[in-house]
Amino acid sequence: MPELPEVETVRRGLEPVMEGARFDAVEARRRDLRWPLPKDFVARLEGQTVTGLGRRAKYLLADLSSGEVLLMHLGMSGSFRVFHDGGERKPGSYYHERNEQLAHDHVVFHMSSGALVTFNDPRRFGSMKLVPRAKLDQEPLLRALGPEPLGNAFDAAMLARACAGKKTSLKAALSDQRVVAGLGNIYVCEALHRAHLLPKRRASTIATRSGAPNERAVALVDAIKVVLQDAIRAGGSSLRDHKQTNGELGLFQHNFRVYDRAGQTCPTPGCTGTIKRIVQTGRSTFFCPVCQN
Ligand SMILES: [Zn+2]
Repeated sequence: MPELPEVETVRRGLEPVMEGARFDAVEARRRDLRWPLPKDFVARLEGQTVTGLGRRAKYLLADLSSGEVLLMHLGMSGSFRVFHDGGERKPGSYYHERNEQLAHDHVVFHMSSGALVTFNDPRRFGSMKLVPRAKLDQEPLLRALGPEPLGNAFDAAMLARACAGKKTSLKAALSDQRVVAGLGNIYVCEALHRAHLLPKRRASTIATRSGAPNERAVALVDAIKVVLQDAIRAGGSSLRDHKQTNGELGLFQHNFRVYDRAGQTCPTPGCTGTIKRIVQTGRSTFFCPVCQN
């Protein structure tokens, strides 16, 4: 499942061809994505200009000149491709291989920028929804989301408050979209390793009894921001490379310190530990039993 850095990379890849451009034509080849496409989907998009392309957690938000917002989610297997000036490029690189079969190109945007933007999704867990901008803060898909991890509102005090009294593990707490939005399995593992905290550690241990942050909360918030920023930077360079090579580079993979690295030596300087894999709430967790505690 694409995580926040991948979605942000996709946003940055789509921005130059979508922002300021008009939907000249829209093809809805398959309407049954995770939810059916909204009523009059094509008519509500055609002729509208994208005034801005933003992101909230793992949702892409295209502001339209009509006053509506096109909310897009990649789901499990969704991806966008951009065809422009005779060339093809994929905004964002994905750790898991994307499906390239045209049969799974369910939605196609013909933009006035000259770009063809296709949404491909073999498993159809992705979604598109149109919401009036004025009602965005009441949108059920977004309302329950916690703070953006890279935003100023997300700090040690806020994370400690959210974790205080929680009997669940840190892994579970950080994966909870109400605590912090957009973090998934990969970057939770990476952040916990960087903060030297065990995934199974009780979430409440990053807060004092009164709910104030301790040094663990400070380290964890720093680690979350750093791993996400690093991944977004790697995605940005993959984007530049895509323009030249059209290839799938998978650059994020090279940046993982623990994710999918069971049996390998821990990359923490001076640590002699070996990365272990365990299963927590049905998902793989990777960590170093030596330098994480
Ligand atoms: Zn280690």
